[in-house]
Amino acid sequence: MALALEDLTFDNRFTDDLPGDPVNLNQPRQVHHAAFSRVDPAPTSSPQLLAYSAEVLADLGLATEVADTDEFLQVFSGNATLDAMEPYAACYGGHQFGNWAGQLGDGRAIALGEIVTATGVRHTLQLKGAGPTPYSRTADGLAVLRSSVREFLCSEAMFHLGVPTTRALSLATTGDRVMRDMFYDGNPEWEHGAVVCRVAPSFIRFGNFELPMSRNDTDLLRALADHTIGLHFPDIADGRTSGFTAEDYVAWFAEVARRTADMIVHWQRVGFVHGVMNTDNMSIHGLTIDYGPYGWLEDYDPGWTPNTTDRQFKRYRYGAQPHIGQWNVTQLANAIYPLVGDAEPLQEALTAYVDVFNHAWPRMMAEKMGIARFDATRDPGLIHALLDQLPTIETDMTIFFRCLARVPTSSEATDDERLAAVADADYDPAQRTGDNRALLAAWLRDWTARIREEGQTDDARAAAMHAVNPKFVLRNYLAQLAIDDADSGDPALIGDLLEVLRHPYDEQPGKERFAQKRPEWARIRPGCSMLSCSS
Ligand code: AMP
Ligand code: MG
Repeated sequence: MALALEDLTFDNRFTDDLPGDPVNLNQPRQVHHAAFSRVDPAPTSSPQLLAYSAEVLADLGLATEVADTDEFLQVFSGNATLDAMEPYAACYGGHQFGNWAGQLGDGRAIALGEIVTATGVRHTLQLKGAGPTPYSRTADGLAVLRSSVREFLCSEAMFHLGVPTTRALSLATTGDRVMRDMFYDGNPEWEHGAVVCRVAPSFIRFGNFELPMSRNDTDLLRALADHTIGLHFPDIADGRTSGFTAEDYVAWFAEVARRTADMIVHWQRVGFVHGVMNTDNMSIHGLTIDYGPYGWLEDYDPGWTPNTTDRQFKRYRYGAQPHIGQWNVTQLANAIYPLVGDAEPLQEALTAYVDVFNHAWPRMMAEKMGIARFDATRDPGLIHALLDQLPTIETDMTIFFRCLARVPTSSEATDDERLAAVADADYDPAQRTGDNRALLAAWLRDWTARIREEGQTDDARAAAMHAVNPKFVLRNYLAQLAIDDADSGDPALIGDLLEVLRHPYDEQPGKERFAQKRPEWARIRPGCSMLSCSS
């Protein structure tokens, strides 16, 4: 039965199980011995609903009509709370760009509470951009429209791509203006304020465990770990909510490491660059979380990051994500060490990350290439030969793999025919000459020979390839076009993109304009190829 908002069943375990901040003062400060501070969302002047996700609404058990009600708008823009909600901001720390940053916390995210659906699924609802909290430090607790459109669309796009992620229920403008210096260059401007309602089993991050460890607060560390395992890792909890052994904590950690590796294999598959893989942005569930200055690879370039704040060292570039994931789970191992008391089992569990990644990544790449039966002795060479030569001239990653499915594989086909089938991926076809052309021709020859060994029909292979190689991703410039329109009052493109991104692997004839290479204007336009953390 589809529900109204009042009928939702709340079970606010995070605030029930864990110690809260005894001080009731919404001012930036250090919060000790507490997992959260109670804080209400700040009222907004004239909220407007720009978009909502019908699937998330349904997941929560809500009726479609609920999204049209004024109550929905008021609740999910921060103007009203349901009686059963117990809004709070979580206290956590984190490593930012490799350095310990101390207490961070939900500076502009306010969780409303946890609901449990009729089928027993738990969802935490959280507003992002809903006003200041004790963790806002020097910032305002607000979010602007451009970053909110990006988070709303991308988290839904990722879900439909099959990438583990937090979800987005709604996107609303607040009617209030927010001052931002987008490029930190002394040119602040007024922008539209906005609020996104995010949905996830929980928003617990690696940083929730790092902060109490850094403060030698083992009681809080244990309470957080027990809450997390007891509620969210039933296979390890086995009915218990406390009294976990060192082995249980290690088993839990290994599971988080595995899920994180699995998530990053997906990122590499679809060409997603998170941009800010700080440990406060790593979900304990292995979900993609905190969509900030993320981007999508256009031309395949492992050295690319969209984040201008990371321009110098490119710590969080596409090609470094697997290694950074490992660095981050190592920080989680350090954080829970006091619960285990022995480094060796944690060290050993850390290999779970490497093992999962090393197993899954080449198989994922082989699938992208249409190889159904991975051959561990030969296929890695074929994968690396392609990845070595793809960046030599600008080649669109998404289009290349999509086109690869239709390259003729018969031994009668010529180099020209094979090259023509992937030519659409080239940003400048005139550059596909000399060595570039010869290398790609040779690779395609090797690849077709390998494909012929598999003995699949072309149609079956193409269908399998299309199921892992999306046609539609949230290209950076498409998100920016939707933002430009929304900024001037027209949210239609947000809805169009949301709709097309619900079926990223389908051909969707007539939607080709959402599957085009980055146009030239977008190469240098801020927001398309370059983003800062300002949001
Ligand atoms: P991020 O890099 O966006 O994940 O943010 C790092 C930290 O800064 C988190 O604790 C955020 O809550 C906080 N933060 C980012 N933007 C704001 C803002 N406008 N107001 C308050 N806190 C913020
Ligand atoms: Mg964050």
